[in-house]
Amino acid sequence: MGVELTVASERPSALEQTNPAGLLTLDFEQPERAADAVRAFAEQYPIKGVVGVDDATAVIAAAIATKLKIKGNPVHAAIAASDKYLQRELLAKAGVPVPRFMLRNLDEDPATIAKSITYPCVLKPARLSASRGVIRADNAQSFVAAHGRLRAILADPETAAACGDRARQYLIEEFIPGYEVALEGLVVNRRLHVLTLFDKPDPLDGPFFEETIYVTPSRVPAGLQAAIKDCADRAVRALGIIEGAVHAELRYNEGGPWLIELAARPIGGRCSAVLRFGDKGVSLEELILRHALDMPIPSLQRERLAAGVMMIPIPGAGTFREVRGLAEAKAVPLIEDVQITAHPGERLVPFPEGSRYPGFIFARGETPHVVEAALRESFQRLTFVLE
Ligand code: ADP
Repeated sequence: MGVELTVASERPSALEQTNPAGLLTLDFEQPERAADAVRAFAEQYPIKGVVGVDDATAVIAAAIATKLKIKGNPVHAAIAASDKYLQRELLAKAGVPVPRFMLRNLDEDPATIAKSITYPCVLKPARLSASRGVIRADNAQSFVAAHGRLRAILADPETAAACGDRARQYLIEEFIPGYEVALEGLVVNRRLHVLTLFDKPDPLDGPFFEETIYVTPSRVPAGLQAAIKDCADRAVRALGIIEGAVHAELRYNEGGPWLIELAARPIGGRCSAVLRFGDKGVSLEELILRHALDMPIPSLQRERLAAGVMMIPIPGAGTFREVRGLAEAKAVPLIEDVQITAHPGERLVPFPEGSRYPGFIFARGETPHVVEAALRESFQRLTFVLE
């Protein structure tokens, strides 16, 4: 794209001194201070656009955009999108359908709470992502067990730091049964453009919520898709998001669509590689950068072909040694790539404590049906060896 990039990180890079324009260390725990540091940096190296890549950096990016008066979200909107409790409050107030919810302190006696709530319910940390720590409970006994696991997850100092002042709190929500979809969007000057709607054909009924297959275009009937998009649109406005990528999870059932979560960032992991836009097959990242930099966007229209990605399920707890059958998995017709992102020697931690998928499978074809079948077939050929 011919764009010069500065990567800001919360940990110093060994190469920072040799590439002062390209690498910058910021304190992600203090968005205002980070923005001040960027303003000073920009006096020497002018900044035209800023993009956050995950929930935490979406807030930093908003603070920087505000300070530099460049395109971006207000800080309060980015915070509302990354804080599950604040988000629920704003959405409920705006009349967007969300599960019933309450915020509780981890130190409160779980056995007492367990007696007073209705089941099934979902316990979740207020600020983690990728379904980490999200647990369904069907009765008082499983509630107490889930609470114990959540407390242990949040006892880890790094995890607690990521949750900031909500590290001792958690949400209890009504469990919304139904079919789940993911919506990828780009907000341009307050208007949500839906880039694509993904079906999640595998049921996500818990007790943990590990993702697997995403396929687009969605096979959900057109009328329902319109209602889902309208629900996401209302959520964007309720949270005050005005610019940039959004990724939302929605469910629907007899009650219509429900907003499970909306994040002011693009889809995570390697999943964005399934998306290509316009005649030239522009990537999602390029769309996002073009938008941030006020460069012309050739098209927001996804390609004609169906596409899908499988987040490879975490095969178990242990040390990853190798994967067998990779060539066979890649040889399945319609499979574009199988990327193993786990490194030999890496410890794999299943949900809900972990959330790092060991790899991703990508497929493209004429219909969502054949794409989904190819992903499943490819996965069947992989064997993970753990110790
Ligand atoms: P995260 O941001 O960590 O991914 P979410 O709140 O999006 O956390 O929850 C992760 C997944 O858990 C959702 O995609 C959904 O499948 C499931 N889930 C979360 N909350 C509920 C709920 N109240 N009812 C039903 N399923 C839920």
